[in-house]
Amino acid sequence: MTKIQANNNKAVVNLLWTGGWDSTFRMLQLSTKDVIVQPHYLIDGKRRSQNYELEAIRSITEDIRNLVSNKCTIRDLILVNISEISEDVDITLAYKNVAKNHKLGIQYEWLARYSKMVKNLEIGDENGSAPDSILLGAIRANGAIKKMTDDIKGEYYIVDKSVSSGDIIKVFGNYHYPIVFYNKLLMKKEAEEMGLMDLMNKTWFCHTPIDGQPCGICVACAGTIKKGLEYRLSKAARRRYKRKKLIEPLMKTYIIRSAGKLKRLIKTTKLQLPLKWNSYGTQST
Ligand SMILES: [Zn+2]
Repeated sequence: MTKIQANNNKAVVNLLWTGGWDSTFRMLQLSTKDVIVQPHYLIDGKRRSQNYELEAIRSITEDIRNLVSNKCTIRDLILVNISEISEDVDITLAYKNVAKNHKLGIQYEWLARYSKMVKNLEIGDENGSAPDSILLGAIRANGAIKKMTDDIKGEYYIVDKSVSSGDIIKVFGNYHYPIVFYNKLLMKKEAEEMGLMDLMNKTWFCHTPIDGQPCGICVACAGTIKKGLEYRLSKAARRRYKRKKLIEPLMKTYIIRSAGKLKRLIKTTKLQLPLKWNSYGTQST
């Protein structure tokens, strides 16, 4: 058993909250516990969806505070621009080493630096892709995670530092992973049981909204559909998704064929050049 950081006799839980499905689900779990939740939101300046995410956080925070069942205290959101996070060459190098073998987004580099500043930061990574999420796959390739139990906040996972490489510890070793073995449908089931689906349906996921609605064609929309939450998208967005799925293989074939043609053209041109050169007789004097 471990004890999380206490403040005024109440435990403080630092939560990375994006306004998305996973971290919001964790926020709802925490609302059933007698804790102080300190949410953090990191601004990378590239997400067109930022204002939608912040609006989702604002609205859901208000809803939770008004819930009869709510037991937690939610502190005001801490907003941090990623340019304000301290540089750390060791972490950056460790990230690059891990990313050589795993498709880890660049956010894991600056998140790792942030997690060094905020101890025991909860991150809402889930395990929606079989057999392991990218994060779990990366950790397990050079280490392991282990289950922890806390009297107040329940079960969560951490990197097992006794069997993990230095790079894994630097990139993933500072977080708590409370929902790393959940998937989206399991979260939906639990949220339904808690009677809090209205709040889950306020979460934001699309990277490139169209007319203020999820687009159906970005990676986040595709992920939402593939992981069983198609109902979150409008009919128009679902049509766009299906159209894109139909067109994509054709585009790939077209690109491969074009690349093949280009390759052949380069080859032919190379072969023909000396001939042309000779045909002008400029070299054969
Ligand atoms: Zn989208």
